[in-house]
Amino acid sequence: MNERDSEALAVMLARAGYSVVYDEDDADAVLLNTCAVRELAERKAIGKAGHLIARRKAGKALRVGVLGCMAQNRGPALAGSIPGLDLVVGTQQLHHVPELLDRVFEREEGGPIVALEEEEGSQNAISEHPAQFQAAAFVSIMQGCNMRCSYCIVPRTRGKERCRPIEHIVQECRELAARGTKEVTLLGQIVTSYGRREIPFVDGKSPFVQLVEAVAKVDGIERIRFTSPHPRGFKEDLVDAFRCIPKLMPCVHLPVQSGSDAVLRAMNRPYSAAKYLEIVDALREAVPGICITTDVIVGFPNESEEDFARTVELFEKVRFDMAYVFKYSPRPGAPGDALPDNVYEEEKEERNQRLLDLLAQYSLERNQTYVGTVQEILVEGRARRGENRWMGRNPTGRKVIFPSEANLAGQLVSVRIDSASVTALEGELVSALEEQTLTLVRVEQL
Ligand code: SAH
Ligand code: SF4
Repeated sequence: MNERDSEALAVMLARAGYSVVYDEDDADAVLLNTCAVRELAERKAIGKAGHLIARRKAGKALRVGVLGCMAQNRGPALAGSIPGLDLVVGTQQLHHVPELLDRVFEREEGGPIVALEEEEGSQNAISEHPAQFQAAAFVSIMQGCNMRCSYCIVPRTRGKERCRPIEHIVQECRELAARGTKEVTLLGQIVTSYGRREIPFVDGKSPFVQLVEAVAKVDGIERIRFTSPHPRGFKEDLVDAFRCIPKLMPCVHLPVQSGSDAVLRAMNRPYSAAKYLEIVDALREAVPGICITTDVIVGFPNESEEDFARTVELFEKVRFDMAYVFKYSPRPGAPGDALPDNVYEEEKEERNQRLLDLLAQYSLERNQTYVGTVQEILVEGRARRGENRWMGRNPTGRKVIFPSEANLAGQLVSVRIDSASVTALEGELVSALEEQTLTLVRVEQL
């Protein structure tokens, strides 16, 4: 979400006459769009801002601003912890940054300009995309979250759930498609709650499923993904959507947080491990081979070896394709900030590592199943390494690298997978004819 906000803000700044430079040394202003989910992210941002301000002593007239979640979380106090800051802008004021930055440049000196107010309709402000071609783009569909997970600072930093209208989102997707974008990822803190108060169910379909259907009707958009759903709102209509909407890619990021019911209760996550597994089973029945990824927290307050064993058990049952494993980080201001952070750091690290080891094993095993198959790849751009090598993703979101003399960015191509590692697949382009033959061979084998 931060990346998407920064991308949209860069477009707004460009319209106001600013331009992005790619070397900090060339910049007249540096704006840090911050995260507050864990303490480490906040510490890094504070360190970075301090470092930039220190460079002024070397005679550089650099303006420094802190935007986003940490600004919202720490408020005006942030100016005290980072002396010399020029701008502090919260999550609902991002679209005012161009005019606020003008003000920073117009004045000689003074304390920071601070804008942290809530603003009605601010969820509609993040809708613009850069002129540069994007094969796959993020589309922000809502802001905020009404849940109260005990560890989480997001409801405080991003505010109450506020949704954009379906027509606005569809229009944004149409504009992206007109520029050649073929894939959109619909973004929200809790997309399964999209429109729950504003939009009625139709034929048993939730507002979010209605939104996905509407986006699927946009010509030119060939692939749809979304993140993040919440297990509580992941109902049959959304499972069916994977069966009925071919453009919805077979890949779900479904944060579980823990495999222990006691920990889930303490986290204020209203589901059990068994309920989570039911959703996974339903998805796998609807779409065999669907890729399932997750977020998990290790070392939550009072998480015992027994609780952690339940998480390992859940990992073994689901065999996640990928997961973000977070070590618990106490967040002052989160609903559970009075809970004791009582799992030792070494213990957190060890649990973290055990899950990462399992994930590496599952990911490699899964990737190896693709070897010998032909995958449809949306080419995103050049691979990081090697000349004439391209990077794209298959429907389940796996990174695929292949050689090509031609620039294929933005195209859907067929690639025969020759090798697999934990993180990526490699292969060769196949011609349309060869692809047909391969499909026939596969059908005969079946
Ligand atoms: N809205 C998403 C998650 C947003 S935050 C959801 O509910 O699924 C992204 C992830 O950061 C969370 O899923 C959680 O695993 C992790 N996280 C949030 N707060 C954290 C904390 N205090 N310590 C460690 N990890 C945290
Ligand atoms: Fe945070 Fe929970 Fe909301 Fe996700 S659902 S943003 S973890 S409060």
